[in-house]
Amino acid sequence: MFTLTQFPLPFEYDALEPDMSENTLHFHHDKHLATYINNLNDLIEGTEYEVLPLRKIIKKAAAENATKIFNNSAQVFNHDFFFHCLRRGGGGRVPDEIADAFGGADAFRAEFKSTAAGIFGSGWAWVARDGDKLKIIAGAGAETPIAHGMQPILTLDVWEHAYYLDYQNRRADFIDSFLDKMVNWDFALENLKM
Ligand code: MN
Repeated sequence: MFTLTQFPLPFEYDALEPDMSENTLHFHHDKHLATYINNLNDLIEGTEYEVLPLRKIIKKAAAENATKIFNNSAQVFNHDFFFHCLRRGGGGRVPDEIADAFGGADAFRAEFKSTAAGIFGSGWAWVARDGDKLKIIAGAGAETPIAHGMQPILTLDVWEHAYYLDYQNRRADFIDSFLDKMVNWDFALENLKM
């Protein structure tokens, strides 16, 4: 049978210090993501889901309102995608290919920041392509563009476990650090080509 195993972190645990601490990444990757993977494996064992690739599990669970399978499969995808959106020495200039769709880099940053800051409770701020249009989307809980046939371009995890050890309640500062110092724009541009 098909069993998902842990996705390796695409950088060293201390690569993002001090903007995202080694401690945060151990909890986030080794505990939170691992729990979603274990839950998903338990939920799909012996069902028709267990032979499907992850993106198809997400779409099928969304279509069938299989909430537990959706939440856990989406959280697995979202976290692996999110960790690839980060790099040491990242952030800075927003590539024109993305900025131009929002009226320039400043307008992109303002919309992304207000969207990420405005998510009530746990969720994800996404840049996604819907048809041929780039959008910034506020996703509650485990919400993911995969469920809606959109191409994910970039995401920021704004669940408290993503930032509370380093920023406590200061989500806006976490968003600034993401945009200024951590975004892997090369990964976002790769996604734009798909
Ligand atoms: Mn998370």
